[in-house]
Amino acid sequence: MAVIKKFKAVKISQNHLLGIQDLSFSEISHILDEAKTFIKLNRSSSKKTDVLRGKTQINLFFEPSTRTQSSFELAGKRLGADVMSMNIVNSAIKKGETLIDTAMTLNAMHPDVIVVRHQDSGAPNLLSQKVNCSVINAGDGRREHPTQALLDALTIINRKGKVEGLKIAICGDILHSRVARSNIYLMNMLGAEINVVAPKTLLPHSVERLGVNVFTDMKRGLDNCDIIMMLRLQNERMQGSFLPSAREYYEYFGLTPDKMVMAKKNALIMHPGPMNRGVEIDTNLADDINKSVIREQVELGVAVRMACLKIYCKKT
Ligand code: ASP
Repeated sequence: MAVIKKFKAVKISQNHLLGIQDLSFSEISHILDEAKTFIKLNRSSSKKTDVLRGKTQINLFFEPSTRTQSSFELAGKRLGADVMSMNIVNSAIKKGETLIDTAMTLNAMHPDVIVVRHQDSGAPNLLSQKVNCSVINAGDGRREHPTQALLDALTIINRKGKVEGLKIAICGDILHSRVARSNIYLMNMLGAEINVVAPKTLLPHSVERLGVNVFTDMKRGLDNCDIIMMLRLQNERMQGSFLPSAREYYEYFGLTPDKMVMAKKNALIMHPGPMNRGVEIDTNLADDINKSVIREQVELGVAVRMACLKIYCKKT
């Protein structure tokens, strides 16, 4: 069964997956449909296919990552690709130079796809202009994290049947979050109503232009919502002080049972991870198997990345 709608012979127009903003509705539908076929495979005892046999995937993570990097690595291996993960987080080489030099070096080894995470917004776009293979963005600065938004959509569809018509609250550090940006683009395109909830200091200028309702009062922002997406405070992207204290932040913007009651009874809690328990989310709510789908997000993340690798790797 199709996840959204069945589109015949969908063509992905780009060679690279750089952001949700570059995708059409039918391309998103195609990726999610493809991902759905991998959920079953990943739950079976034999998880391997040979769709990407003979292909080479390089993971290039300039920022720390647990979920995304391991998820892309497993995804490539389950598709039969040769996967190499370079860990360059602590490299002392200069930015900019590093990226282009590294790109040219790797390009000479004939990879079929490079999965890149970088602290600078736009770095994957730059890389895509320098290499002959496909580039998949695994998170760039505060700009986009397309596979995170796609796996979030798949998780919602898996639980609620659709995204269209749902009310989704995205709460926390919207200003520095690429997850928030990609999800705002994607969920809007899929027909959800979006509330963003944050202190004024953590809201981007004119954020309402992205097609969202803006709240600085969490209880009002959660009112009647179907989905609550919590975000981590991106301290590594903050220069200066954005908040009085973590304790006060938790008091006003942490997801706690007294705020959760404002949402619908069957509302789901999501978080891209890593979580800071007691800062943006109550620890019991994070682990509540009747409300939290945080582990399911991780599970479906592998399926989404398999779909993206299959689609984009095949294009080169
Ligand atoms: N893992 C997500 C990201 O890379 C969210 C986070 O780090 O808070 O953007």
